[in-house]
Amino acid sequence: MKGSRITKRAALRLLKDAELLPLGEMADRIRKEMHPEGTVTFVVDRNINYTNVCINKCRFCAFYCDVDSPHAYLLSAEEIFRKIDETIALGGTQILLQGGLHPHLTMEYYLSLLKAIKARYPIAIHGFSPPEISYLAAKHDLTIRETLKILKEAGLDSIPGGGAEILSDRVREILSPRKIKSFTWLKVMEEAHLLGMRTTATMMFGSVEGPEDIIDHLDRIRELQDRTGGFTAFIPWSFQPGNTELGIGDWGTGIGNRKKSNPHSLSPNPVNAATAAEYLRVLALCRIYLDNIPNIQASWVTQGLKLAQIALRFGANDFGSTMIEENVVASTGVSYRVTKDDILHAIRSAGFHPAQRDTCYNVIRRF
Ligand code: SF4
Repeated sequence: MKGSRITKRAALRLLKDAELLPLGEMADRIRKEMHPEGTVTFVVDRNINYTNVCINKCRFCAFYCDVDSPHAYLLSAEEIFRKIDETIALGGTQILLQGGLHPHLTMEYYLSLLKAIKARYPIAIHGFSPPEISYLAAKHDLTIRETLKILKEAGLDSIPGGGAEILSDRVREILSPRKIKSFTWLKVMEEAHLLGMRTTATMMFGSVEGPEDIIDHLDRIRELQDRTGGFTAFIPWSFQPGNTELGIGDWGTGIGNRKKSNPHSLSPNPVNAATAAEYLRVLALCRIYLDNIPNIQASWVTQGLKLAQIALRFGANDFGSTMIEENVVASTGVSYRVTKDDILHAIRSAGFHPAQRDTCYNVIRRF
């Protein structure tokens, strides 16, 4: 596909001007070439958010708490084990272990947790996104590579792509000024890939970015994937404004008014959720641009099952996780509760064959 791959300029034109249905057809053709058997995969797993305490206070996040908040929590090892027991009983093969940047947690906490989980359970640990890894490295005066190596030896299997949002420091300065910059997010992923760990990549769009920022984000991911090949999947999801600083218009730019539009945004109102058409347009563009990433995930957690079904005709070939538990998106007030049977039915009735996969996207069961 290289050589004939789409350029940034052509992608920008498509994102801004293409008609939605032809764009979807283009993405669907590419999806069919990459996955001709018509399988749509999903993983049975549970999100375990070990703490909601976070010093970053991102403006799009409704999940975090200050360390002294009455709502702050830190799960005990026993609570985490109980959640894993339930996950395994439901046929789960993976836990997604993520949390905020808790100022009191040291490497010791992470290592003993990883080792204790691995000693008890045959389960994959997909955990600690780049902001957590980079925070831990800085705390212990370690390099990113050293930190990843230590965590990997203790049992960390793969890394989720959270914390990417939009890989533009101009946008990050508005969304999450305390969070790691684009370079560091990419550096964590590159080092993880070089250590043989597989990771996913994400993009949160539909807030204050413009179409150019979306294309730059995709280009940085594609460029890293050309060098390492370590990304298993790309997961675009749209900003959910409920209960967030950004959603109420208080986002520190001096505008302070959610009804005011951003002339550089895809959306006339940058702090409202992206529409279904905007979601599908960006999703299709992701499939078209990321010719070196095999899997594109539909986000039923933010879009609901019905739109996720349509996403399967706009380039997506994976349904993500059954999400036995989900806390972060639910904090915004968006909460779609679905069972594994709902997912099987949604995939089948959209005309595809459902299959359960593992963390590395190997099919382990067909239905
Ligand atoms: S998005 Fe992550 S890093 Fe940002 S405040 Fe929420 S928990 Fe913290």
